[in-house]
Amino acid sequence: KPGTVIVGAGQGGYQLAASLREFGYAEPIVLIGEETEQPYQRPPLSKAFLLGEMAAERLAFRSPDFYEKQNIELITGARAMTIDPIARRVELQTGAALGYDHLVLATGARNRALPVPGADSDGVMYLRTLADSHAIRERFERAQDIVVIGAGFIGLELAAVASKVRKTVTVVEALPRVMSRAVTPIVSDFYAGEHRRWGVDLICDAGVGALDASDGKVSKVVLSDGRRIPADLVLVGIGVAPAIELAMQAGVAVDNGIVVDANLSTADPRISAIGDCASFPLGQRYMRLESVQNAVDQARCVARRIVGRSEPYSPVPWFWSDQRDLKLQMVGLTAGAERCVVRGSIEKRAFSVFCFTGETLIGVESVNSGGDHIFGRRLLNAGESISPDEAGDSSFDFRERIA
Ligand code: FAD
Repeated sequence: KPGTVIVGAGQGGYQLAASLREFGYAEPIVLIGEETEQPYQRPPLSKAFLLGEMAAERLAFRSPDFYEKQNIELITGARAMTIDPIARRVELQTGAALGYDHLVLATGARNRALPVPGADSDGVMYLRTLADSHAIRERFERAQDIVVIGAGFIGLELAAVASKVRKTVTVVEALPRVMSRAVTPIVSDFYAGEHRRWGVDLICDAGVGALDASDGKVSKVVLSDGRRIPADLVLVGIGVAPAIELAMQAGVAVDNGIVVDANLSTADPRISAIGDCASFPLGQRYMRLESVQNAVDQARCVARRIVGRSEPYSPVPWFWSDQRDLKLQMVGLTAGAERCVVRGSIEKRAFSVFCFTGETLIGVESVNSGGDHIFGRRLLNAGESISPDEAGDSSFDFRERIA
């Protein structure tokens, strides 16, 4: 009997299977994952796991018997190759075919490749999977001169780990400031300063022209202005592209991700998409978010719809990044903020940036200030605001506002 088939056994796929059972769904669930491991969390891969401070077994979402106990058929090491939307069938690389009532694409994203000569040399690495993290860990031990390309979250987390274990670390970023897609200039400047204090040579506004190699092994990163940086390990973190090939093959619309409506359904009501691969309406525009929050909440949203408790997806996005002893937590989307108010102390490395359009709070970026983050989440979830003056007033007590 066909039930729900989920393609992709990552954060979103696992959560959907678990939530369906939690919400009382009694039909068959098949969870198909291309990777060989049981579903696991990715965030530690660039943090505690890479530092050797977290065992691989602790990455798994659940103990191995969870899937059997919950009657979830987990098929690992299997890639879904084609979808027949008319016959409602998915075909795997193994040749097996699975029928479905609901098909959910939770295929995630894949790393963008560095498009320069020499990028295929030995010692040029990317991080997305547990296997990648294992491979980087191994190389880390032998490497001394590490160049990180891209100062987004993953690039900076890698740089934080590498500098902690006393490697020579250079970060090359094409844009003028770090993490610029996601945070305000105040937070970018603070993190740039911290990385430099940790000994990282941070070079912004710099393009990479080529990678030099000797005997097939990477030896230098050549910048567009001709500078050459010695490297025996190059870690590339220049963003991801949504995994859309399966959707395209099935004739499902794609546009920077698999296009879904406010209920996360594609134009085919039997096919939904969640997580990093899904482009969904948020306010006036379509967005793709790459975060645990988004994958988990979208999974729950689709699980509710499948069990007949449909509710549109209207998230307050949040995210975190750990770099050494700094915990960055963000809520809301702060791009385009008209006014930023700092609360706390940048010098003491514990502060938040409250971001406003007009008098309305649109997001909060917190560094080592978990209380502000939680307050911001509660406020934005409740559709409420505080004024810029209140945000900047250290005597203003948040607890009075949210009971
Ligand atoms: P994924 O978890 O990527 O899962 C997709 C799965 O689908 C993959 O296993 C893939 O192999 C599989 N797949 C794809 N195509 C097929 C196919 N045809 N057949 C079968 N299987 C297929 N987010 C945060 O909020 N905070 C963080 O600190 C943070 N740190 C991160 C650190 C790293 C190193 C990485 C890589 C990500 C991090 N993220 C973080 C992002 C977060 O992990 C992702 O947003 C989240 O995993 C997205 O979930 P997903 O289910 O959409 O995709």
